[in-house]
Amino acid sequence: MSQLDLLQSRIEGGGRLSADEALWLYRTAPTWWLGRMADLVRRRKHPDGIVTYIIDRNVNYTNVCVARCNFCAFYRPVGHGEGYVLGFEEIFRKIDETIGLGGVQLLLQGGHNPDLPLAWYEDLFRAVKQRYPAFKLHALSPPEVVHISRMSKLAVPDVIARLVDAGLDSIPGGGAEILVDRVRRLLNCYGKASADEWLDVMRHAHHAGLRTTATMMYGTVETDEERLEHMMRLRALQDETGGFTAFIAWSYQPEHTERGGREATGIEYLRTLALARLVLDNFDNLQASWVTQGGKVGQLSLAFGANDMGSVMIEENVVRAAGAAYCMDEVEIVRNVEDAGLVPKRRTMHYEILGDPIFRQREVPRQLELATAREAGDTSVPAELVNYEARSAAGKRQRTQPRSPVA
Ligand code: SF4
Repeated sequence: MSQLDLLQSRIEGGGRLSADEALWLYRTAPTWWLGRMADLVRRRKHPDGIVTYIIDRNVNYTNVCVARCNFCAFYRPVGHGEGYVLGFEEIFRKIDETIGLGGVQLLLQGGHNPDLPLAWYEDLFRAVKQRYPAFKLHALSPPEVVHISRMSKLAVPDVIARLVDAGLDSIPGGGAEILVDRVRRLLNCYGKASADEWLDVMRHAHHAGLRTTATMMYGTVETDEERLEHMMRLRALQDETGGFTAFIAWSYQPEHTERGGREATGIEYLRTLALARLVLDNFDNLQASWVTQGGKVGQLSLAFGANDMGSVMIEENVVRAAGAAYCMDEVEIVRNVEDAGLVPKRRTMHYEILGDPIFRQREVPRQLELATAREAGDTSVPAELVNYEARSAAGKRQRTQPRSPVA
């Protein structure tokens, strides 16, 4: 029996792959074979052929960031004229628009802004929940939680408890990049959170009863072994807590970044996705990253292990800044899923099925372009910011001159 046949019968029997075996497959197995095996695992986990998606909105509450990851084209340093913080009213307006399109949650993430204390997040979450009690907040990736913990001098479990008390529903898996510190140092993101710190936030969140997602941004400086190490660390934590709902991989988007370089190809994406489906045997759901790969590769993902189209994504700012500006509204996502012979269903962040496509139930406007955080040139400063203590010199200045641009 060849090594490939041996591993095929292991996968067919529901057995687990070791890191070495997975690495061998990634380097050796034909792409069609990886797809066939990943599709087998997807069908075993989702025999009804359902492909889910969520209607939500990626809102980036601030682009001011002290972390300065060298792969990021989104952030602006403290004091930069293009830095912004969204006001509570602007966020409410975005929620109103999201609800109008059948949306059920905000994916709320932002830069590590030294001038937004824990109280700002608590007040925002409480205000959202007061106005929209059923609306969900999928908010603050692990490095943001670490940032708030450092600023507030509160331990991570205490920060999570405070945020949950204010209305946090779940934590997105952003900021994982590759969970290997050698890679994180090279990407200048070790300081925002080491691999252990990222995993520890997720561990605490799971212990606090929150469900979270896990991500991977590949295609920068990592080796194949380090990509596997990332997956193995996620698998181990999932064995321990069972708190991850889904895994999402996407390729590094190089445009306008300090790091530069080239983007990984579509085949590399599909091989990485299929490998993740084979390695992460304790994850129920794998998302297709059509927002970075485009609709066509996004659709092909459904034959390489993905069972979820992620978000209809009314707004997106981060990968757009790095050159990817793909847009698919609900009609387009549903068309791609059905054309692949699968059954589209709306879901919650917890992967509970909400129902059939909403546009088949009521009139919903077509959405052919993703919204942005703010209109270009809008440098207004939210009035409520004067209520929160700033730490940076620029932030302190701006608090005393509240009509000047966020600095
Ligand atoms: S990836 Fe996030 S933490 Fe890193 S610079 Fe960009 S906004 Fe800041």
